[in-house]
Amino acid sequence: MPIGPLHLGFTLPVFARFRARLELLPLAIGSFIPDIELLLMWPVAGSIKAARGVMHSLLGAFTIDLAFTLLFAYLVAPPLVAWYVKKVGDPSQAKFAGGDFSARPSRFGVAVGSALLGTVSHVLIDVFSHDRNPLFWPWDDGQGLHLMLLGRWPSSVLMHALVGGLLAWAAWKYWRK
Ligand SMILES: [Zn+2]
Repeated sequence: MPIGPLHLGFTLPVFARFRARLELLPLAIGSFIPDIELLLMWPVAGSIKAARGVMHSLLGAFTIDLAFTLLFAYLVAPPLVAWYVKKVGDPSQAKFAGGDFSARPSRFGVAVGSALLGTVSHVLIDVFSHDRNPLFWPWDDGQGLHLMLLGRWPSSVLMHALVGGLLAWAAWKYWRK
């Protein structure tokens, strides 16, 4: 998905449903972290499509994506979000379905599992909305697998509308609660 944060349309409703078994920050961050590859590699690869590599593979989801997610979830996001809510003077802005975007994960094993749910779901959801998914990198660094069953544009538009709609619904129902 070109708009990484739209992947929250899958992970945030999952968090709302299974919150006791998940950690919010790693789940949320993991679900869009593979798309930092697009920002990092686009200038080198020449096109946004060619920029999709190791971080959009299953191996990447379990290694480099996981490492980046944990780094952001423990060290980068909590102080940033805490600074932001302090600045706006409204801690409820960091609250979602009983979770808190400004809090470091408290259970490391759960954080790892949540991060993996995020990263793996990202690369799998992309299979339905992109035609280049090197899912089995390094064994397959070509087009990889895609399941754009309705054709390129209809599939992409449908997936964006679906996760975008879910994200809007989850925000309306659970944000600041
Ligand atoms: Zn992606």
